[in-house]
Amino acid sequence: MHITILGTRGEIEQSAPSHANHSGVLVNGTILFDVGERDYLDLGAEAAFITHLHPDHAFFVTDPAAIDMPLYSPEQSENDPPLTVITEPVTVGPYTVTPIPTHHSVKVKSIAYCIEKAEEKVLYTGDMIWINKEYHHLLEGSRLVITDGSLVRKGGRVMRDKDTGKIYGHAGIPDLIDLFAPYTEHILFMHFGSWFFKDVEASADRLRALGEEKGVSVLVGYDGMEIETGSL
Ligand SMILES: [Zn+2]
Ligand SMILES: [Zn+2]
Repeated sequence: MHITILGTRGEIEQSAPSHANHSGVLVNGTILFDVGERDYLDLGAEAAFITHLHPDHAFFVTDPAAIDMPLYSPEQSENDPPLTVITEPVTVGPYTVTPIPTHHSVKVKSIAYCIEKAEEKVLYTGDMIWINKEYHHLLEGSRLVITDGSLVRKGGRVMRDKDTGKIYGHAGIPDLIDLFAPYTEHILFMHFGSWFFKDVEASADRLRALGEEKGVSVLVGYDGMEIETGSL
């Protein structure tokens, strides 16, 4: 699979030259995952899959737009465009895209996507804390996991809503490595939080070292990064 990382900046003020755009991943130039910037619509994708309706993943929740392609989402939006709620695998050309529920927010639903083509599998998550055990079998044999770089400290920032008892926030990068390392050899972080921008080079080194400690190769995403998963 050919992956283009379009945007690696989280929902924060800070920015850096290679980390300026909000979330977006393009698979083989044909399928978009998250549309954090309006420009991503001009790339010629056939369909888009949204992890959750926060504006850094779905620009149109704060800036309504007419979008002329199938748009899949964990839930309907109050604004335009109309979305197709995804609960079952969807096929786009040679790809099968399977939604996997994730924990992230109390106000919006969130899902990760398992993207499969022939024998190859890639997992893309938006912001997240955890995936329930019952779904972990779907992660097995992932060539690459692309996930949330919001927080580097172990434990991240996880809170509990007092009305619903639901957890919300972001896991820490070490927690996400622990979660995904049994299922993949390669983890790419994007959606960086403010910790990353204090010293981009040092932060990238720190990420790679965390991977080494835990026996996985960590890739540090940047805007415009191209990856051929077959050569990882
Ligand atoms: Zn986000
Ligand atoms: Zn979010």
